[in-house]
Amino acid sequence: MPALPVPVAAHIGEDGGMLCSRIRTAVSARFDGEELPPGVTMEQLTAHLEGCAACRLWETRARRLDEDVARLRDAGTAPGGEAPGPPRRAF
Ligand SMILES: [Zn+2]
Repeated sequence: MPALPVPVAAHIGEDGGMLCSRIRTAVSARFDGEELPPGVTMEQLTAHLEGCAACRLWETRARRLDEDVARLRDAGTAPGGEAPGPPRRAF
């Protein structure tokens, strides 16, 4: 009776921590207007955020950071608040 080869990659994608890090990469890519990393779909992203409180918190923080950056950018271009750009230096 021949021994069947053991399928190796059967459980890939089931590891919670691994998935979380991929989901967070996808979340930050979405904030930057970039495409989702390969292997992560928008459905997976939404479903994971619904079920994972840690990633939801991470997304909330990332979004707040994104809004802060946008606010700073707006403040920098506001009339009257003109500041000279930093000198360019070659290192
Ligand atoms: Zn997660």
